[in-house]
Amino acid sequence: MEKEKELAGRVALVTGAGRGIGRAIALELAGQGAVVLVNYNGSRECAQEVVREIEENGGRSESFGCDVSDFHACGKMIEEIMKKYLHVDILVNNAGITRDNLIVRMTEEEYDQVLNTNLKGAFHTIRHLSRYFLKQRGGKIINISSVSGVEGNAGQANYCASKAGLIGLTKSVARELACKGVCANAVAPGFIDTEMTRSMPEKAREAALASIPMKRQGSVEDVARLTAFLAGRGSDYITGQVFCVDGGMTM
Ligand code: NAD
Repeated sequence: MEKEKELAGRVALVTGAGRGIGRAIALELAGQGAVVLVNYNGSRECAQEVVREIEENGGRSESFGCDVSDFHACGKMIEEIMKKYLHVDILVNNAGITRDNLIVRMTEEEYDQVLNTNLKGAFHTIRHLSRYFLKQRGGKIINISSVSGVEGNAGQANYCASKAGLIGLTKSVARELACKGVCANAVAPGFIDTEMTRSMPEKAREAALASIPMKRQGSVEDVARLTAFLAGRGSDYITGQVFCVDGGMTM
């Protein structure tokens, strides 16, 4: 008889899952048996492509368009999901943007946009889902932070503030929900090969590479495998932690 997959019967919502790290996480969770709900804001086609890929591999998936920076839109999306799927067991807050600038030039808009998506977006989904997690006495929340949130980075005050904020949010939620069997952890990727890092200036790319003891960029799968571990039973006694996936950049 075939062994049951690790995440069989679980429903996972992954934000910003149309491409990059989110896409890899969606595929990895689906590969381990979860029903994966692919949230997107920009491109519906990309999200549909991820859904198709999951279905072609025998999994179940659906895409949900919603700007995570919009509190009420997140509430509506989660209401719709709960009506249809009845439970969500895994929430991965992956949606994120950068608007890099030196602090002396950073506009209020650049600061707000990044905070509203990266940090408030996670608050919105957690806020709307937490009552269901409490009721079902279980759930896994995984927030995709960054090593930039751990160490800071010149030219990214907005991004680093949002990613450091995510760590505080993760730890507080972990403390609040631990006694109800809900785990919340943060994953802090280093320098991962995605469109986000491909658009960096060459000098910044070289500097980032030079700071990695393993001397290579990470892959989206490196981040996805850890996230899937945190979504599964192997992490049942782990909460409030920050895991760097960074080839040794921070230690
Ligand atoms: P990416 O730009 O390829 O993907 C980000 C995704 O988030 C996109 O699909 C985008 O449409 C979506 N998104 C943006 N704003 C949204 C919103 N308001 N609502 C819903 N979706 C939205 O970037 P990536 O490199 O795959 O990054 C994914 C996550 O990992 C981000 O949170 C990023 O900060 C984090 N991260 C990336 C790296 C890296 O080296 N690439 C390092 C550390 C952390």
